[in-house]
Amino acid sequence: MQKGRCLCGEIEFAVEGPPNDVINCHCNFCQRAAGSAYLVETLFGKAKFHLLKGSPKVYEHRSEGSAKRIQIHFCDRCGTKTHMLFERFPSSVGVFSGTYDDADWFEHAPGRALHFFLSTAPLGTVLPAGHEVYDAHYWQSEGIPAVPQVFETHELMTLELKAESRRRLGTSKS
Ligand SMILES: [Zn+2]
Ligand SMILES: [Zn+2]
Repeated sequence: MQKGRCLCGEIEFAVEGPPNDVINCHCNFCQRAAGSAYLVETLFGKAKFHLLKGSPKVYEHRSEGSAKRIQIHFCDRCGTKTHMLFERFPSSVGVFSGTYDDADWFEHAPGRALHFFLSTAPLGTVLPAGHEVYDAHYWQSEGIPAVPQVFETHELMTLELKAESRRRLGTSKS
């Protein structure tokens, strides 16, 4: 069991690991929700997530991409977001991974941690060597996996990389 909590300690949770997926997501939703350059999201089956203490408030957001609902759980005392549920992926829980007591408990290695939404990553974002980096997300469209890039050396996001990524997606949508 790995524990996590909000800033003030009102909300505590535990997960049974390892996560099914570790996603460094650079999409606009995750940037805004995390209030940061990107979100490190660890995904679990619902039965592996346990709320230990407190009752989070829920903000329901409609995804601009899929129009499906996302329920963001947060502490109404300190404002920390802890986890979210997805109408599109009903069996999954996504954890805001900055809330774990031990930041190092899950693996960030190539092959374990994916990078999503290169197309909207801020300039200067580090794209680590050996990791799968997707222009948007894992699915190009329903049921069709996208083809990731894997950089040989660590790269920094540039305007050129962003423009290429958006061109591959064929749109400017994020
Ligand atoms: Zn709190
Ligand atoms: Zn995202």
